[in-house]
Amino acid sequence: MKHLLIGTSIAAIFLAACHTARTQGEPTVVVVPPDEMSRDPAAAAPTAKVVPAAPSPTTAASPAAAPVKHSYNSCNVDGPYIAMTFDDGPHETNTPRLLDMLKQRGLKATFYVVGQCVVEYPDIMKRIAAEGHEIGNHSWSHPALNSVGAESLRKQMDSTTAAIVKSTGIRPATMRPPYGATSARLNKLFDEQYGMKVILWSVDPLDWKNRNSATVSSRIIQGAHPGAIILAHDIHATTVAAMPEVFDTLLAKGYKFVTVSELLAMDRPPQLVKKETPPAKPAPAAQ
Ligand code: ZN
Repeated sequence: MKHLLIGTSIAAIFLAACHTARTQGEPTVVVVPPDEMSRDPAAAAPTAKVVPAAPSPTTAASPAAAPVKHSYNSCNVDGPYIAMTFDDGPHETNTPRLLDMLKQRGLKATFYVVGQCVVEYPDIMKRIAAEGHEIGNHSWSHPALNSVGAESLRKQMDSTTAAIVKSTGIRPATMRPPYGATSARLNKLFDEQYGMKVILWSVDPLDWKNRNSATVSSRIIQGAHPGAIILAHDIHATTVAAMPEVFDTLLAKGYKFVTVSELLAMDRPPQLVKKETPPAKPAPAAQ
């Protein structure tokens, strides 16, 4: 994989402390029409790409003229697939601890990283990528992107992508707007001009607010559903401490953990998805 150096100067302009407060609620703002997704244009930079697709059962024929889908709260899938997402890192200690938990269980997750933390912890970024997780753009300094100017928005996106590419050699294929603050116009822009689908969520344990591991794990476990995109924050020790319970319980219920791009690759029009998808079979003993 190549290590690209584009954008380091842009990144430098933004250099700021990583640990700023950026964990207020992330209210969902957008309603997403249930359409077929389109292929990612991912034009701009040369790079290695996030590998989509994997344990997908079938690839459905797409109905004619389905409008392009720019953003997702969840996916329609034929199986107990879910995507765990972790925002706002990487964090010096909590992210490596979480990576250990994922590795022990052979699970894949997606990390929506903040650019100013990426440049602070390049080695953690390398580890995230090396262990097969997906990395997405979560802006440089975590502003509400629907309230910044065009130039600022461009810098927030480009400097973060450049930092991710520099540390991992991989260009992000998806992004998550801080606080879920976006719009139909921005979703189209992120998809078409940045080559990134906009990823929101369908399960939110409010872990930024409730720093209680038992509460966080029970909310995620109760909210989980096939095709779920689950929001969490690996900057909080309480959230990371909740993960063994979350992972082991959901594995025991038969859920399979995939990256966001893998989940998107399985997305189908709702009418083509079988009804009886709740996971049934118990998984082999989780560790
Ligand atoms: Zn965030």
